[in-house]
Amino acid sequence: ASEDVKNSPAATVVFDTVAANSLVKELRSTVIAGKTKSYEWRASQLKSLLKMVEDRDKEICDALFSDLSKPETEAFIHEMALMKASCKLALKKLKDWMKPEKVKTTLGTFPSSAEIVPEPLGVVLIISAWNYPFLLSVDPVIGAIAAGNAVVLKPSEIAPAMSSLLAKLFGEYLDNSAIKVVEGAVPETSALLEQKWDKIFYTGNGRVGRVIMAAAAKHLTPVVLELGGKCPVLVDSDIDLTVTAKRIISGKWGCNNGQTCVAPDYIITTKNYAPVLIDSIKHHLVKFYGEDALNSLDLSRVVSSNHFARLTKLLDDDRVSGKIIHGGQTDKSSLKIAPTIVLDAPEDSLIMNEEIFGPLLPIITVNKIEDGINFINSRPNPLAAYLFTNKQQLKEEFVSNVSAGGVLINDISLHLMVNTLPFGGVGDSGMGAYHGKFSFDAFSHKKAVLHRSFFGDAPARYPPYTPGKLRLL
Ligand code: NAD
Repeated sequence: ASEDVKNSPAATVVFDTVAANSLVKELRSTVIAGKTKSYEWRASQLKSLLKMVEDRDKEICDALFSDLSKPETEAFIHEMALMKASCKLALKKLKDWMKPEKVKTTLGTFPSSAEIVPEPLGVVLIISAWNYPFLLSVDPVIGAIAAGNAVVLKPSEIAPAMSSLLAKLFGEYLDNSAIKVVEGAVPETSALLEQKWDKIFYTGNGRVGRVIMAAAAKHLTPVVLELGGKCPVLVDSDIDLTVTAKRIISGKWGCNNGQTCVAPDYIITTKNYAPVLIDSIKHHLVKFYGEDALNSLDLSRVVSSNHFARLTKLLDDDRVSGKIIHGGQTDKSSLKIAPTIVLDAPEDSLIMNEEIFGPLLPIITVNKIEDGINFINSRPNPLAAYLFTNKQQLKEEFVSNVSAGGVLINDISLHLMVNTLPFGGVGDSGMGAYHGKFSFDAFSHKKAVLHRSFFGDAPARYPPYTPGKLRLL
């Protein structure tokens, strides 16, 4: 009988607008009491986060395997190591980041001194995505805590094992009067979005990004939108072929089997060079994942049956299915799709217009490499744009003419590991940025402070205004 009660709908906790409202009130009272502001509180929470990942790495790996069959090596390198690096950096630099920055003043305010004082925004909401469900949840939380905020994390329901693990671990390791996890899908997120937040940090697709921004606008809440897009890779012919092929494979299939916001979405190369490049990619794919890639343990699975159906639909298109030159095998029962290459899919096909976010890689060919830049520029701004070349002039042209969240020359994805670089999109790929100090800044208000003394009071500023006073100014 007790089981019946446990499983009955009446016994389930409903997270609705009322619950969301009282949650925000509770957190706001913690912030008003000043608890989250001190260096000591921020550092203690960051240390607890580090301890959490060190103590519980096995559970984190297991959750990633359960949600995505993510290989352990990828779980460690792409999720836990990056999170730890981010946390360690915040701990090392926190005192510096919190310091007011002295700035110059102008003659008109002489004598005076000026400073920019970073202050916490207050109570912030972080909504994260399923593809790196640990890193994309915890990394922005590090920024929010470092900046002295109370925070609610809403992990993705599409990665349910990680969502419930994060709820459990945050409960055990962090100060729950200031840091909470709310699990749930659209209804719970909508209840959260009705509240007034001091910042909303969202990672996910652009359609929902618009929902977030509209909800935030009602309260004049600023947003960071970490979105995606179709990240192009332009490949010239004067490259180190083996290194290029291996890096493309590692950035595409070796990162969550293509389910990565900065994964290569499509390649552009010249008609002459395409056969050479394709041979090398195919050769290394077999070397890395074997002849039967569908059963390789080194590839993540597709996250859900909806995403599986979305991806297979891209291949089922008549104008695309005949152009598969590698892979194409799928297994609905295990949600696996083998690394698949499509050559010269029509420009107006779905695969060339939707973000792929999976193991399919179209290669399109152009007459000359510069045409590739025009192709990229005719599309919405991607989150990342890649170029493989040895030509200095082409590198300069790419950097100056291609507008993307980030540009990386001769590699894939690695720019996001450089914590002195901001990570974020532009245009359709998002707004705002984080990583390193940029995470602290994303969750801080930069307060302008001017100090004056009672000395140096110019009479010209006070009425009665006379022509003589105007001449003095
Ligand atoms: P998702 O389905 O996990 O959704 C993201 C979040 O939005 C979830 O927490 C979900 O609950 C919430 N959500 C979904 N529908 C909602 C609604 N109607 N109202 C309010 N909240 C809602 O993830 P996704 O969108 O499939 O993620 C993939 C996308 O995210 C891709 O476009 C990818 O490029 C992008 N992405 C970007 C980054 C980045 O750092 N820029 C990182 C990862 C993924």
